[in-house]
Amino acid sequence: MSNFSYSQYIEGESIYGLITNYHVASCNRSWKQTNLDIFGRTHVRLHPVLPNNINAIAQFFKVEPVYLLNHATGYPLYAFSLSNQASKLKKVLLSAKGQLIASYSRQAPSSLPLAKQHRYCAKCIEESFETFGTLAWRIEHQLYGVSHCPEHGEPLLYLSSGEGGINRHYCLPEGGEPILLEQNEKAVRLSIFVTKLYHLLQEGNKSRSVIDLYTDWLMIKGFLTKCGHIRMRFLADELFNYWKELFEATEELIPLELSNFNYVADIIHERRPVHYLKHVLLMAFLAKSPQDFFALSKVPKPAPELLKQQDSALESNVLKLLDDGSSLREISASLGVSVGYVKQLALRNNYEIDRRRWKLTDEIERDVWRKAFVGCHRADIAKHHGISVGTVEQLIQSHKGLSDWRHHMVMAKRRAKNRAALLQAIGTNPQITRNEFKRSFSCYMWLYKNDREWLYQNLPAPQAKKYYPSVDWAARDKFLAIKVKCLPAESKSLSELDRALGGHGWLLHDAKKLPETMKEAAKILENSMGRKIVKD
Ligand SMILES: [Zn+2]
Repeated sequence: MSNFSYSQYIEGESIYGLITNYHVASCNRSWKQTNLDIFGRTHVRLHPVLPNNINAIAQFFKVEPVYLLNHATGYPLYAFSLSNQASKLKKVLLSAKGQLIASYSRQAPSSLPLAKQHRYCAKCIEESFETFGTLAWRIEHQLYGVSHCPEHGEPLLYLSSGEGGINRHYCLPEGGEPILLEQNEKAVRLSIFVTKLYHLLQEGNKSRSVIDLYTDWLMIKGFLTKCGHIRMRFLADELFNYWKELFEATEELIPLELSNFNYVADIIHERRPVHYLKHVLLMAFLAKSPQDFFALSKVPKPAPELLKQQDSALESNVLKLLDDGSSLREISASLGVSVGYVKQLALRNNYEIDRRRWKLTDEIERDVWRKAFVGCHRADIAKHHGISVGTVEQLIQSHKGLSDWRHHMVMAKRRAKNRAALLQAIGTNPQITRNEFKRSFSCYMWLYKNDREWLYQNLPAPQAKKYYPSVDWAARDKFLAIKVKCLPAESKSLSELDRALGGHGWLLHDAKKLPETMKEAAKILENSMGRKIVKD
């Protein structure tokens, strides 16, 4: 069957990409035919990251199923976060049991509401065309959290998948929309980290327990108390500051609910499996790369007494350097602790924190707040005053409520964008029904979740339910009329006649819908009556 050169699996390609190239090369007119070739049935929907039916696909393309699972799907990342429950997901993905995926993918990605997209990088596509002569969808671009090409650093382009998008069609990576237009360093960082972690997990040689690694990293970075507890509030604040840019993007790159870092406790105390994105947000904050994260050799656990001594030794070193007039950044670099840790310590010991006051007049400070308040971008504010983005950040943080306000502003911008999109969509499609709307426009779901009252006020009015009779009574009437005409026996009553026709009660209850039949019935009844009178 698979005698096309295009039906060979290319390393790094996604399952959807593999089948799309087969589909194109086979010249099948419809996706249904392609599905028939591969699966023996027409209706198969392939998830961009976690497709099932892997056994059938592997057999068709003559590849090892487990190889395909680890190299053409997002499975390694999910297996990592599901740990001992991963085997159940593996079984489902290998099989054809699509209905289980629904319940399983809820478990696997922890129900994070993520956009359904097929993504590609224009440069990678060019390269794959030159090298292999195909336009390949790459699996690493499909992974959740990847918005930029890890190789070229450019924003990916996407086609919407699912209903209202590509749906079941097999489309080549062409004509997509760019994911976001603003520069976002943290989005690039996240994309690269997710991809590197994915490749590292494919090799599958984790030597130490992840929880131990987290604990050691947290200790090194100064997030553990003397008794070994996590400084949770401090950690959550630092995590938020680190990833802020990601959540401030006008296009939703990752769900906003991830900006509440409470789930870090779930990870470290192993309370429940969490989505791999949550792991990545913590890991990428602690270590430079996944390789660095896993390469940390065991930090010997000192006795609590010793730990206390070490902690206080570190603290006194920090305080000494502060006394010497070193900056927070210098101390952080020389002692290998985070700037936040140094700052917290300085504040606790009543040190005047270096906020570059020699440069920041009260006037500038007020203007920064004012600009932040009306929603100016931090980079623009920094540029305007010739100060660093970090300083602007610090000022925003120091103003109680401003951070919340800016979060509110981001939501307000998104709301305005989605409201405008909805009104425009209604304007250009005045006949559209609410259901079609739901399927075709992503603004519907956003508004449904975040702005429901407004949505219902502005949607086209629900259309009155139309009655579509399930029976063609006219046809039934003709058919029954002939049947009645041909009835051999005479009938004394309408009920008897109805019984002769099968006893459906049609002649008794639906007489109005059967004018022809009733005419014939009346003739028969009249005849019977006539005969009866003659006999008498
Ligand atoms: Zn690329």
